[in-house]
Amino acid sequence: MALTRSQSALVEQRLAELSKEVQDNIRKTMPKPADEKSLDRAGAGLDSGEEAVNSVQEEFDHALHERYLAEFRQLEAAQARVASGEIDQCADCSGEIGAERLLAYPLAKRCIDCQERHEKASRGTAAPKP
Ligand SMILES: [Zn+2]
Repeated sequence: MALTRSQSALVEQRLAELSKEVQDNIRKTMPKPADEKSLDRAGAGLDSGEEAVNSVQEEFDHALHERYLAEFRQLEAAQARVASGEIDQCADCSGEIGAERLLAYPLAKRCIDCQERHEKASRGTAAPKP
């Protein structure tokens, strides 16, 4: 059974909330334009030690920024799947993902069985979780 209209509306709402959060995060980690950066530095009169700290922070923000952008693309894809009514369809077996799973994790692309199989298959190549 596909999602009911109200379940699909709930998933859509969750996706919209997540999307807003991610867009906020994207804005917060947005790299500064180069000229603004040099103005900052000239203005603050940083020595080379402080510059190094800044560039570590920038790299960190950059990595986060990339991650948020990737998340945003996933959210967009999920929103398109809600719009086309495919959100409940497993990418692997074309079975149902299930409303409960989608509401807990709106970015789910696989049913729980396929997800477990997928995780087992990719284990070993993936970095160990802390
Ligand atoms: Zn499946």
